[in-house]
Amino acid sequence: MKFPFPLTPEIKFALEAVRKASQLTVAVQNEMKQFSSLQKSDQSPVTVADLAAQAIVAHLLEEKLPQDILVGEESSEMLGLVENRNTLDQVLEHVKRFFSHATLDGVCDWIDRGTAEPAYRFWTLDPVDGTKGFLRGDQYAVALAFIVNGKVEIGVLGCPNLKEAKFQDVGGVGSLVIAIRGKGCWSSILKTEHLSFLPLHVSDCREPRDAVLMRSYDRSHTNEAQLEKIKDALHLQKPPIRLDSLSKYTVLASGKADLFFRLLPMDRPDYRDYIWDQAAGDLILQEAGGKVTDLDGKALDYTAGKKLFNNRGALASNGFLHEAALKAVKEEGI
Ligand code: AMP
Ligand code: MG
Repeated sequence: MKFPFPLTPEIKFALEAVRKASQLTVAVQNEMKQFSSLQKSDQSPVTVADLAAQAIVAHLLEEKLPQDILVGEESSEMLGLVENRNTLDQVLEHVKRFFSHATLDGVCDWIDRGTAEPAYRFWTLDPVDGTKGFLRGDQYAVALAFIVNGKVEIGVLGCPNLKEAKFQDVGGVGSLVIAIRGKGCWSSILKTEHLSFLPLHVSDCREPRDAVLMRSYDRSHTNEAQLEKIKDALHLQKPPIRLDSLSKYTVLASGKADLFFRLLPMDRPDYRDYIWDQAAGDLILQEAGGKVTDLDGKALDYTAGKKLFNNRGALASNGFLHEAALKAVKEEGI
């Protein structure tokens, strides 16, 4: 299927930006594998990928939609330090593969074009969501969302290590997933430019005991005791799928899993996600037929600043299981 919706300048930009940023992160990840001196504990590969990906998305936005603003996760602040000169050189080298006219100063300006505050109309970007997955050579996502008047209008996820939005496939063709408010959600191949898209739909699982739970790979990103209580309350029987990043929402949108709880860690009960940690996945799952709320059943509120200050955690489901899941959260006193 060709792209099933008129390619507005916003949609064209979003697809191109996430495709390019994802290709860049793949290149950095491949280099990580080649140079074993880049230890997994070394923060530099992810820094290079994060910063360079934000630079190219911000620069592309400047070219294609010059009036629009970008609220991204990164800033160039640390690149000004002498000890980070090597990182800056690597960022420039990667950006130049996409924009050969890039310069050292220019790249920092491009990154900082992505440090705007949320407004009536803005884009929000997590250039590498799932840092730990990225460093492990595992799942991560490039997440871009377009928000107007507090509503996510376009959500795009680049999942370089997922195939057909559902199967783990490190080093394969990758998935590019886009949702447009009120129009649907589609998946394509990340590696090639041909615009062939297939619609995504959530599962039709209606029995909690048959549901597949998605959970953060990182145990510190949830509350394990509460998660166990919820699993018991819902009588979940199938083994959960552990995955980093908004790739979880892609898998939910493709019908391969049914539930995800963003619980607040025991030691950080006031933890709040950033808007870029949810926005793209939120629309993608909803347009695939699913539902996303916070743990109290409220819609995620993108008007409160860079963080979701008005929401406690998140609950993402195929829709059918949402009420039962909310009930379990409430009854377990979570
Ligand atoms: P996940 O893939 O579910 O582990 O979540 C990944 C994203 O959420 C990253 O952007 C993390 O920085 C963020 N995140 C989730 N939970 C936490 C937490 N408890 N503390 C810090 N960051 C978190
Ligand atoms: Mg993130």
